[in-house]
Amino acid sequence: MKKKIVIVGNGFASLFFISYFLVLPVFPVFAFFLRRFYSRYEITVIGNGQFIYFPGIPDFIIGKKTKKTITVDIRPYLRRRNIHFIDDRVVDIQDGGRTVFTTRGRYTNDALFIGTGPAFMVEAIPGTGTHTFSPCGGPDDMEAFMHKLEGLQEGIIYVGFKLNKRDGFVAGRGGQMYECACLLDYALKEKGVRDKFEIHLFSPDIEPGETGAITDSLLARGIILDYGYEPAEFVEGGMRDADGSFRKADLILFTPGITAPEWVRQSCLPVSDGGHVDVDKFGRVKNLDNVFAAGDCSNHENPPPWVPHQAHMAQLRSEAAAKNMRAVLKGREPSHTYRFELSCILNMENDALWLHAASDNKPPFRNIFPRHSKKLVTVKDMFERLYLFYLRYL
Ligand SMILES: Cc1cc2nc3c(=O)[nH]c(=O)nc-3n(C[C@H](O)[C@H](O)[C@H](O)COP(=O)(O)OP(=O)(O)OC[C@H]3O[C@@H](n4cnc5c(N)ncnc54)[C@H](O)[C@@H]3O)c2cc1C
Repeated sequence: MKKKIVIVGNGFASLFFISYFLVLPVFPVFAFFLRRFYSRYEITVIGNGQFIYFPGIPDFIIGKKTKKTITVDIRPYLRRRNIHFIDDRVVDIQDGGRTVFTTRGRYTNDALFIGTGPAFMVEAIPGTGTHTFSPCGGPDDMEAFMHKLEGLQEGIIYVGFKLNKRDGFVAGRGGQMYECACLLDYALKEKGVRDKFEIHLFSPDIEPGETGAITDSLLARGIILDYGYEPAEFVEGGMRDADGSFRKADLILFTPGITAPEWVRQSCLPVSDGGHVDVDKFGRVKNLDNVFAAGDCSNHENPPPWVPHQAHMAQLRSEAAAKNMRAVLKGREPSHTYRFELSCILNMENDALWLHAASDNKPPFRNIFPRHSKKLVTVKDMFERLYLFYLRYL
């Protein structure tokens, strides 16, 4: 009898999990036949079938990317690996993880991987859902922002973020919002209307007076720093402060802190203080057998305070989870842990910074790339093209 593996979600964490779980991740023809005629596992993915390459979304601002260019129909990728796909949404998990409920059915498993991605704490600041746009809301939300921007001849634009740090790490999207602010500056300059716009960068999670390479880049672009600022409420035409005063904003791009989706709280999955699926250092969901999670829906055991939710971290975590799931299915103890690493290229189009920190102090790619150079824009594009090529054709 083949062991049944269920994977929830078809984003970065789940697809990295698949690539590390399968013996032959990049030879699909062999993988197909090998898995067809010899495989210990029957794998099922439950999701919407559309992979979104989120790191490409800020580039909507400069017109370089669109929804179409960053979206991949993931079903052929799964078919090439002889993996079943269920087009549905998970609404509950029970029986210690053995039963997964969707809107239309229920699926049992011998082992479960959860990669459902983030939920955003939109309730933290009233009016977030109604009066702000977010690149984290996906391509449609960002295209709606661009549509509104294109209708403005002048105005005040606020770009901001809030983090959830209750699990001891950075559950939020700071770097992406810096990137959006700098790309807005670039796009408005290209249109010759930069002097008609004010761009503000705000966050209650940055200390007023904070310095560094990012702050220098923002200041060099004339972006007004509202470090330490948190509106009490987003309202029509702007923001209301705690003292009742009104700040005008024609357009707000804002991303709240990250937690796990709401349905997790009613399921049998343990939930951390910060609202994530609670996992240990092996990526194993605590107190449950053969259940693993990685990516933005889950927390870390003893993380360094600087580690963020990232596609890059999802990869490191999914690799460990995949190896550990294989081990437990063979009756062994999990032993694979993962490194903590923040690694991302902040693209400003006319310049770029490689933001990096690692728990073992290893530099990215053995330091072959510069840390501050416009050339990194091309490097970032190259990573995206390679990964999307892999998903589309390999
Ligand atoms: C604008 C932006 C820029 C970014 N830039 C970078 C960057 O430069 N570098 C970097 O490393 N990271 C970047 N990130 C972060 C990165 O995209 C996330 O960390 C990554 O997507 C997390 O992967 P995930 O699989 O956990 O979640 P996701 O990629 O969001 O995938 C979650 C999957 O689960 C599915 N799903 C959700 N709920 C259910 C359900 N109930 N049932 C079934 N399926 C479900 C979704 O449809 C999706 O397929 C960026 C993010 C954003 C928003």
